[in-house]
Amino acid sequence: MAETEIEWTDATWNPVAGCSIVSAGCTNCYAMEMARRLAAMKMSKYEGLTRKSGDRHVWNGTVREDRSALDLPRKWIKPKKIFVNSMSDLFHPEVTDGFIEDVWRVMRETPQHNYQILTKRPERLADFLLSSSVGILKNVWLGTSVENEAVVGRVRELKKVPAVVRFISFEPLIGSVAGVDLTDIHWAIVGGESGRLARPLKEEWIDEIYDACGVAGCAFFFKQWGTWGKDNKKRSKKENGREYKGRTWDMMPAHTH
Ligand code: SF4
Repeated sequence: MAETEIEWTDATWNPVAGCSIVSAGCTNCYAMEMARRLAAMKMSKYEGLTRKSGDRHVWNGTVREDRSALDLPRKWIKPKKIFVNSMSDLFHPEVTDGFIEDVWRVMRETPQHNYQILTKRPERLADFLLSSSVGILKNVWLGTSVENEAVVGRVRELKKVPAVVRFISFEPLIGSVAGVDLTDIHWAIVGGESGRLARPLKEEWIDEIYDACGVAGCAFFFKQWGTWGKDNKKRSKKENGREYKGRTWDMMPAHTH
């Protein structure tokens, strides 16, 4: 099992490797650097996915479906919350409908787990679900990432998606999403950016989401402040902590089994 430090899940499952940048939230995508490191360790799945750009490595647009990873969750007997594709986006245009259907088959046949699918391409997620016959699975949570106002329309797209749990990851939150309507959204995760180029997170942006959760009855999870420093000095995740309003917020959606 792929263990993870991500606070809101138990394990990661990566049937797809590689991606391409879609919006400002992707600029410091940790998966790009991680893919480069794994390629340097001769993990063939991650070889040839990035190119050098200045002093960093960025996706080169290659996306790889990994059939050998498809059956991994079948081997995990103990129930887990599983984050699907922490290193990619299942709804990237290069991932075929047939492969996504194969992922759905595995999720259907392993009901002991809860799967968390997070995409920055909710239009394709909605098209896929409304046009295919995979149906609603009660162990599959569907979410989209929203980093600022420019992409807040993703919330509307997600609302078209039939699911027992719809969630938004406001991470990395790099701007205001004032006025966001979280009606019909079950869970909101908020977090700052990590890494050496982390951009700041303002408390007032969190307040806007916290208040919207209160209005809509949406569970609120505050993941972390990130690794930026108010004095522009880098801070560790531990130093910045994960308290907001003097406490931690680890609410989960009501639906769990
Ligand atoms: S969609 Fe996700 S995995 Fe793909 S580049 Fe953006 S942040 Fe990275």
